[in-house]
Amino acid sequence: MNRLLEIDREEQFLIHVAAVGKKPLSRGCQRTYPSYHPTSEAAIPAFLPGKAYGGRCLTLSFDEQIDALEQERELLLQFPEEEFIEIIREVGFSCDSCGRCCTREFNGHVFLLEDDTDRVRSFAPEAVIPAPDFDACDQQGRFYVSGYALRTGPDGSCTFLRDGRCTIYDRRFSICRVYPYMLHREADERGHIDWRQISGLNEHGCYNTPIDDAECARIARETRAYEAAFLDQEIRFRRALRDLFAREGLRYVRRTYDLLMRDFRKGREVEVRVFHRGEFEPHRVTRAIYE
Ligand code: SF4
Repeated sequence: MNRLLEIDREEQFLIHVAAVGKKPLSRGCQRTYPSYHPTSEAAIPAFLPGKAYGGRCLTLSFDEQIDALEQERELLLQFPEEEFIEIIREVGFSCDSCGRCCTREFNGHVFLLEDDTDRVRSFAPEAVIPAPDFDACDQQGRFYVSGYALRTGPDGSCTFLRDGRCTIYDRRFSICRVYPYMLHREADERGHIDWRQISGLNEHGCYNTPIDDAECARIARETRAYEAAFLDQEIRFRRALRDLFAREGLRYVRRTYDLLMRDFRKGREVEVRVFHRGEFEPHRVTRAIYE
């Protein structure tokens, strides 16, 4: 029996929310993880098959993950524009150039959509690294992840940050453009699911500043487009992974993942295959590139 049939729809959704929060909880990943730092315990993706949830360990197949992501995309696209705009108006964020949001300490890593990856590769290829939160592994010890991220410097700040300023501001990436309006779904104390704005509310910048209607509408449009593109990338990644595993007789084993992650945290070099434009690009990495 499909395990997801054993739990109600809302619970399915919550499991999914834990997963989808992945990338955007930094400016790419600060969305649903309380902390999404690359080398921390919390960096273990919530959407892995075998994710412990509510005291139980649920194993989601790739198809089940894809279904959940497609549902999320549908809900995102259906979300009323006016409500979206109202949330943005209420948040009223304005940047005070503190630069904190561009640091690993504050926001984990900057996840790159495929267009962003292509663009940064055209002018600073060394700035691209495999996103740190590996999504899965196979029985041969290779990790898989849904995309790339920006490298950070030794002090944990984005490689493009100088003296608190973005040196490529006009060319900054999708997540940087919609920050901090990336939205996620979250259940309140009564179990009602709603959109939240979560990117360091009241921890940086200024809030409750007036934003005119046209600007609110622009932010809503770009944020929705960002979220849709992110979900699309996650869905395509999982479809490709499902097909690759079937074609090559690969298996995901949670215990293998845990053991590999333990070795990786200790400094061992691992192979990670990064999904990009329908292919899996192989890399060898150690945790040092995330520190
Ligand atoms: S690209 Fe610019 S805006 Fe984006 S995280 Fe780096 S310094 Fe900040």
